[in-house]
Amino acid sequence: MARQKVVGEGAEPPKKKFTRAKRDATSEPVESAPVLDPSPDTVEDAPLNALRPTSFDDYVGQREVLDSLKIAVQAARSRDEAVDHVLFNGPPGLGKTTLAHIISKEFGSKLTQTSGPTLERPLDMVGLLSNLEKGEVLFIDEIHRIPRAVEEYMYSAMEDFKVDFVTGKGTYSRTLTYRLAQFTLVGATTRAGMLSGPLRDRFGLTYHLDFYSPEELSQVVTRSAGILGVQINQEGSDEIARRSRGTPRIANRLLRRVRDYAQVNADGMITGKIATHALTSEGVDEMGLDRLDRLYLTTLADQYSGGPAGLNAIAATVNEDAQTLEDVVEPFLLKIGLIVRTPAGRKATQAGMDHSGVPSLISPGPQQASLL
Ligand code: ADP
Repeated sequence: MARQKVVGEGAEPPKKKFTRAKRDATSEPVESAPVLDPSPDTVEDAPLNALRPTSFDDYVGQREVLDSLKIAVQAARSRDEAVDHVLFNGPPGLGKTTLAHIISKEFGSKLTQTSGPTLERPLDMVGLLSNLEKGEVLFIDEIHRIPRAVEEYMYSAMEDFKVDFVTGKGTYSRTLTYRLAQFTLVGATTRAGMLSGPLRDRFGLTYHLDFYSPEELSQVVTRSAGILGVQINQEGSDEIARRSRGTPRIANRLLRRVRDYAQVNADGMITGKIATHALTSEGVDEMGLDRLDRLYLTTLADQYSGGPAGLNAIAATVNEDAQTLEDVVEPFLLKIGLIVRTPAGRKATQAGMDHSGVPSLISPGPQQASLL
């Protein structure tokens, strides 16, 4: 099995990327992220994450990406060269980190993992690069957050496998050239647009990971249930998949929630009905939208008459961080066609207007129920 080491941790406490509303005090302590937040939770962070696929065959979906990567890995192995540098771009929770691990495993090399914000000084980067072995995968998460001064050292490292490091000042300055082993840089970003042109151009392979289909997510749920030893039928998997916002990390998280619900309220078996009850009680509606998504939609629909409205204006109205809305809420609402982005701002589509008017999770009180 490929050895892995994590570098750069501790240099700066990892910044919390998203600030969704806190879960209530009765929530399980193991999961810090709200149920539909695609950012990693503590379970997913665990190095021995049992649910993470470890080979191309285990990995569900993203067929075109996998086919291309398989060829790249095989070809590099037969030439006895490192795999070309790879950039993965896409929303959180779609499997970018998983693919970096799979590349190193399938290639039979080590993986070193770090993230953009922890590489504060050029020396951090030079130290990291000079320790890499031939064929090793250097995985940099949030690569768009590498400081520009550090990034410049990566250009010649990626292209010529060397770094020129200047020591001293003025007439006493000297340039030291470090020869590096042929390594593979795998970068992951949720914001490809923030990557500089020179850095982007140095990746030989660039892939955009898209949201998963409900069928693919249902396979993810069935596979994870098998690993966790949870009994689930097809309807149960399908129901969880439908409400997982196209994101495997969320599918796995919802599966664990529904598993708990099934243990307490039923005989442990997850059926479609159990999944529906459990997820509705978690505030996840039939389209996979949660409280914040619905608040965003109703704000846009009601207060801005469907838009167009600027992101910052919406963020101020719903009292949420604009970056959270842009990274977490909007990609899925755009994907399922409830909103559109226009030069003048965000607009709700007809489907978005309709959905905002559906109080699907507000169960009727006893008096109302008797009227219906
Ligand atoms: P990202 O790096 O894009 O945020 P990760 O690679 O950490 O996402 O994936 C999050 C979790 O989702 C993984 O731990 C894994 O359990 C699951 N996962 C991601 N992609 C897949 C997939 N294609 N098949 C099965 N499970 C997946």
